[in-house]
Amino acid sequence: MFQQDLHIDGEWRSGSTGRRYPVIDPADSTEIATFAVASEADCVAAIRAADRALPEWTATPPRDRSEILRRCFEIMQEEEERLAEIIVRENGKAYVDALTEARYAREFFRWFAEEAVRIRGDFRLSPSGDKRITIVQQGIGVSVLITPWNFPAAMATRKIAPALAAGCTVVLKPASETPLTAAYVIDVMVRAGTPPGVVNLVVPQPAGPGVQAMLRHPSVRKLSFTGSTEVGRTLLKEAADYVISSSMELGGNAPFIVLPGADIAETVSGAMVAKMRNGGSACTAANRFYVHVSLIEEFTERLAEEMGRITMGPGLTPTNSLGALVSVKERDKVAALVDRAIEEGAHVRLGGSPSESGAFFPPTILTNIRHGSHITTNEIFGPVVTLIPFDEVESAIEMANDTIYGLIAYVYGPHNEAMTTALRIESGMVGVNRALLSDPAASFGGVKQSGLGREGGFGGIKEFLEEKYVGSAL
Ligand code: NAP
Repeated sequence: MFQQDLHIDGEWRSGSTGRRYPVIDPADSTEIATFAVASEADCVAAIRAADRALPEWTATPPRDRSEILRRCFEIMQEEEERLAEIIVRENGKAYVDALTEARYAREFFRWFAEEAVRIRGDFRLSPSGDKRITIVQQGIGVSVLITPWNFPAAMATRKIAPALAAGCTVVLKPASETPLTAAYVIDVMVRAGTPPGVVNLVVPQPAGPGVQAMLRHPSVRKLSFTGSTEVGRTLLKEAADYVISSSMELGGNAPFIVLPGADIAETVSGAMVAKMRNGGSACTAANRFYVHVSLIEEFTERLAEEMGRITMGPGLTPTNSLGALVSVKERDKVAALVDRAIEEGAHVRLGGSPSESGAFFPPTILTNIRHGSHITTNEIFGPVVTLIPFDEVESAIEMANDTIYGLIAYVYGPHNEAMTTALRIESGMVGVNRALLSDPAASFGGVKQSGLGREGGFGGIKEFLEEKYVGSAL
């Protein structure tokens, strides 16, 4: 069922050391595959393959590049159930979340197939009227793409598709927990006709030395990373040594503000999506709920009813809408945040304790939370709601902005007030009476320590393009 090897220069390879490591199903801790470990030499071989493939790929007509990407979209459409199953097996999420991800992931191939043929330049006369200014956009070159485990398909396609559309060749380094989904995406690309060396896959263990070996290679021109702010900082420092252009999609700590006058039914259903999509393991997940005092009781009551109805269990069982976290380690991280919040005075309204077996953590609501406490300053990455009442909208905005993160925020309430509030939130994205913003056609990204650059939309391809100014006489 699973492709379990590295992909270098158009070949599936077991890696030069012959080492393999177990891939675990977090629902029951069983081993489902053993994936090949990439040595530093394998990582460098992948970069060399990408470098060799670059001239021909860059010279491939945009229409041909576009059609390969379009075929990737079509294959992923035909095989959405197969992909969803692979995601569930290694990531643990509920099947419904995996299927939603499979659909979201393939849309990046469709969107960037369309963008590949629309790369624009610029031509002008100089103000003095005696020279030509010609600007062309060219693919930046060999790109290293590093992705997390929480959306193992979509975070890969969100980078690979614009890179290839721009004429770049790539090496993908997925999270160690979820290499099987990454290998599936590469397999789709091979079947779609991507030439050897254009897309490569390596999984070094541990990640650091292999990635450093790649960044040291003089052919590498781009680093595109999605993951935690902590690892992003390390990679930015490493990329700085070689002045490698870097795009960073990092952590979030999303506020969810409920203004006076908000429609409670609509707000609760939005809160369920903003919190529970992907089991709360999303950089976009609402972490801190600031609710106006006039609504907090009713909001809490109705949210507890909705969250209490969720069935938790193995992701492949169709009736379960909440699956496992990616690992027991991740479950314990969420549990430690909740335990510390309780020690600091939080009251448990729902849930609160992890499963004994499997990496499950139940829907949880914590009240009596103090803004600024440990749980409100850390990304929870699980199905845990923290509730904080407010009197004045001004103080809700201050609390929402009082964080190093700035990825996404949600504001629910009467339209005009919600829009005014949204414009004052320091984040790359704000949902106004809307809880699902991820859309391949829109710019995704954060401000502050949530990242640098944008993915998707019209900006996504620009991250992989470099402007060249060609000056000439008239
Ligand atoms: P992570 O621990 O930062 O890991 C992300 C990737 O970096 C993995 O492939 C990991 O490989 C690799 N990595 C770790 N240490 C490295 C090092 N020293 N050098 C090079 N690579 C290294 O993040 P995660 O736990 O997988 O994912 C969760 C985080 O991703 C959350 O903070 C979430 O907010 C963020 N995220 C952000 C976005 C966004 O668009 N802003 C989207 C999704 C997720 P190994 O697995 O082998 O360690």
